[in-house]
Amino acid sequence: MQKIKGLKCKECGNTTPAVAKHVCEFCFGPLEVDYNYDFIRSHINKEKIVARPHTLWRYWELLPVETTDVLSLCEGFTPFWKSRNLGKYLGLKNLYIKNDAVNPTFSFKDRVVSVALTRSRELGFNVVACASTGNLAGAVAAYGAVGQFKTFVFIPADLEAGKIVGAGIYKPIIVGVKGNYDAVNRLCAEVADLFKWAFVNVNIRPYYAEGSKTLGFEVAEQLGWRAPDHVVVPVASGSLLTKIYKGLSEFHQLGFIPELHTKLSAAQAQGCSPVVTAIKEKSDIIKPVVPNTIAKSIAIGNPADGYYAAETVKKTKGYGESATDDEIVQGIQLLAQKEGVFTETAGGTTIAVLKKLVESGKIAPDELVVAYITGNGFKTQECVQEKVSKPHVISANINEFRSLYESLTK
Ligand SMILES: *Cc1c(COP(=O)(O)O)cnc(C)c1O
Ligand SMILES: [Zn+2]
Repeated sequence: MQKIKGLKCKECGNTTPAVAKHVCEFCFGPLEVDYNYDFIRSHINKEKIVARPHTLWRYWELLPVETTDVLSLCEGFTPFWKSRNLGKYLGLKNLYIKNDAVNPTFSFKDRVVSVALTRSRELGFNVVACASTGNLAGAVAAYGAVGQFKTFVFIPADLEAGKIVGAGIYKPIIVGVKGNYDAVNRLCAEVADLFKWAFVNVNIRPYYAEGSKTLGFEVAEQLGWRAPDHVVVPVASGSLLTKIYKGLSEFHQLGFIPELHTKLSAAQAQGCSPVVTAIKEKSDIIKPVVPNTIAKSIAIGNPADGYYAAETVKKTKGYGESATDDEIVQGIQLLAQKEGVFTETAGGTTIAVLKKLVESGKIAPDELVVAYITGNGFKTQECVQEKVSKPHVISANINEFRSLYESLTK
């Protein structure tokens, strides 16, 4: 008996074998991995998980691969702590920070890519590719190099320098497409049809997306096997948010957490907020937008899982909120100066939205809240260049230092 039964359509429920495929043949709905939970239940328990190494593969039974020879760079099990200053500043008694900016390639995308490339190798592919807003490119390039795949990454040509270097160092073939992510994604859908490669977020998407569940599993485990009251999650395609909920639900279903009452709130940049707009307008339709924001890693104007993300927010009684570019930069500064974490624009969006939800009374002071920080600030240095302390340049001379000191303390 195996743990993967196949793929199942989220819309019509039709099932199909677990191959490299993401759309239902009958209704064009998205396919999702269909697990044999009886198998899983009889093979995993909390004690087993706790005894395993600190990577996301400690949840192997709940991930969509059959091999135990996984492609890992020790991603996951990232730092998690009760806020030392930010909570107090915002008026929250139980704020926790999940710092996923310190994964191997400095974003949470290492989770989805470790899973996607392990599955791709298992399915017999030797070429991997992705359509990326930046962070995915770095992760696919790194894991592609370690897995000895031929690797293609497609990005918008105007991406931040840090993200291009962060992918390029692993020597993938980088295709810079003139246009935004939605143009890149359209091209990749065509490429994926013609070239039979493992496109992690196209034909491998059902497996890829499952990697994000581990951000739900880990937080529950790190809280001592319980679910938070409220989480704030940055939304691009909407996959991460829906999968955090799926992860918490699976833990609940397996009896690893006693109850599940978590509200999921979605954070987007005002310059690209199709999911938040739908949530606020109580609409089932995600209207595509043309992105215009510094938060490039979450700038997807036509989000593949936007509908499901909005539905999860609604179902869990969470909220959708957006932040302006200025508020995002302030969010980055706030997290650095209060918690010592330098995040990129996506994390700045999480913090800015968290602040707004507290100020508007949508998050209560005693709720146990988790802020998901998904990417590293060194990748988007451009955005904070004007806001950081600059060196006061002096000679190695005590008198020069003394006069500098006096001028600063005047
Ligand atoms: C990709 C990404 C997200 C959101 O991902 P989706 O699953 O597409 O919603 C959030 N934060 C960062 C830093 C990302 O790179
Ligand atoms: Zn279907």
